[in-house]
Amino acid sequence: MRTEHVARGGVSAAILAGALFAAPLAAHEDEGTPHDQAIWTWAPEQIVDKVDEVRAGRDLTPKVWPDGARVAVSISFDFDTEPVWIGFQEQSSPSYMSRGEYGARVGIPRILKLLDKHAIPATFFVPAMTMELHPEATRLLRDHPRVEIGFHSYVHENPMRLTSVEERQVYARAMAIFEKHIGRKPVGFRSAAWDLTESTVSIVKEMGFLYESSMMADDRPYELKVNGKDTGLVELPVEWILDDWPLFQISWPAKHVAARNAEDVYSIWKDEFDVAYEEGTMYILTTHPQVIGHRYRAAMLDRLIAYMKSKPGVWFATHEEIARYVQAQAAP
Ligand SMILES: [Zn+2]
Repeated sequence: MRTEHVARGGVSAAILAGALFAAPLAAHEDEGTPHDQAIWTWAPEQIVDKVDEVRAGRDLTPKVWPDGARVAVSISFDFDTEPVWIGFQEQSSPSYMSRGEYGARVGIPRILKLLDKHAIPATFFVPAMTMELHPEATRLLRDHPRVEIGFHSYVHENPMRLTSVEERQVYARAMAIFEKHIGRKPVGFRSAAWDLTESTVSIVKEMGFLYESSMMADDRPYELKVNGKDTGLVELPVEWILDDWPLFQISWPAKHVAARNAEDVYSIWKDEFDVAYEEGTMYILTTHPQVIGHRYRAAMLDRLIAYMKSKPGVWFATHEEIARYVQAQAAP
């Protein structure tokens, strides 16, 4: 699988120009033609070029956060509903999909109540098909004064299964549905399952997004580079340890069983916050209404927010607010 991952439509022109291999790829790159050159046969410079296709650029941590805050905190909710099962996990049984439906029926009202109780903002990344399947919950988010809605695929499709041509097409289709429901374009992009192709960041840039939030090169905000060049795109990095899915979710076909005691997860998330606070950087937490929306977990999130609010100098913001602020601070 690794070979396919590296090779799928992603060998750069520079690598091909190296001509170490009789590479049939160049003309077919956009079609995602796989090739079978194992990574250990590549020359060092080819591997460096591969890594350089998309990577971290300069640190965008501002000298000071708004109002002299010590740390920026932003909680995101990936409102995946049925699409994450049908599109990514490829489970289309009514029972699996009902777990996604729980996110809309129970998770969203419970989370909005929690956000209102604490009067904090949040960012919801919503697949286009979640909007089609749950227009009422989508309207609740759209009309909420402290909610940002970001872009999160068409049907939670796995981007690694797409060629760059298909990826552009599917995002265009998703964008039309997004605008139909929300009435404007999103400024934030989060890839389904946080995986990106070698083309994704360039497509995100072409589509005019302000920020991307699927990469993991830092705890701090940074600028994304493509083939060694600055893109101007802000990256708000994520991490699996700051995501409720691997910590709590149960998925039998994926052999993933993580029904944890909420105290364990609270301990990880609190310690991550404490160090972010001490270092004066940023804390991005990702959750899913169908996962965190369950009673004992929502109660834990309630306690975590209360803990963070008890500290002086915590700036709660949407991802958009953080991205705009760090970009403005970093401007020459
Ligand atoms: Zn998702």
